[in-house]
Amino acid sequence: MLGLDIGGTKLAAGVVAPDGGVHGFVTAATDADGHAGVERLLELGREAIAEAGLQIDGVGIGCGGPLDTVNGVLVAPFHLPGWHGIRVGELAAEAFGRPAVLDNDAVAGAAGEFRYGAGRGTRDMVYLTISTGVGGGVVIDGELHRGRSGNGGELGHVTVDWHGRRCRGCGRRGCLEAYCSGTSIAERANEVGMHDATAADVAEAARAGNPVAGALWDETCEALACGIVSIANLFEPEIVVLGGGVVRTGEQLLGPVRELVRSQTIVPKLEIRQAALGDAVGVVGAAAVAYERLATR
Ligand SMILES: [Zn+2]
Repeated sequence: MLGLDIGGTKLAAGVVAPDGGVHGFVTAATDADGHAGVERLLELGREAIAEAGLQIDGVGIGCGGPLDTVNGVLVAPFHLPGWHGIRVGELAAEAFGRPAVLDNDAVAGAAGEFRYGAGRGTRDMVYLTISTGVGGGVVIDGELHRGRSGNGGELGHVTVDWHGRRCRGCGRRGCLEAYCSGTSIAERANEVGMHDATAADVAEAARAGNPVAGALWDETCEALACGIVSIANLFEPEIVVLGGGVVRTGEQLLGPVRELVRSQTIVPKLEIRQAALGDAVGVVGAAAVAYERLATR
């Protein structure tokens, strides 16, 4: 399968073999204009196929929502204002002469981690990606949960404080995303006097013993644990997989979150693991949903 990933800052393409191996992985900066951008994306796909030297059966495309996943339309992705209304599924199917499917990038990430990554071998899994925003996907009894129109599993908008901070994504108060996204960590750092600090800077300062950064990091871990407990109690997964830029801090985040979740959840033997696919997750995930959806046609 050809996997295409449309990110807010980066486009990526690669041919993903049935065993999950990625061949001909290529990336480019995301064009603000969707029409030029989609041309660049299809060109990347051609480069990936040429470099991989492999045939493809179909195309999987991942992008942030809202999307029409049935008709392959980028309805109004929050992070790509210039790409609204583009029928990327149709364009990819024409360009490559193969069927193409579009899915939410967080759902695709969940599919990728479930099929080829940290969730391999499980039946019930929750995936959370914590980067600019917070997204996720839920696998129930071996099947990805999508909801009525493919926008289900918006785990970043689980409430952790109903009187809390305003969520930039959905406008409500106290969403998980309003505390744990890289954007929110930087915003909260700014509010406590750490000006121009990124989430990575906050993590580093906390490790170095800065008490302000330490308190902010603890609050982030508590909010994340609170969200995970609610989600885990709802679905009783075997494993929760955490990916995305903020999770690159590794045990500094995972350690306290594991402790807090274990002390609060009613789910027995819940495992919390770091995602395994790294930077290729977008492309591998897009291909994983194509393997899943095109096989059942
Ligand atoms: Zn929200």
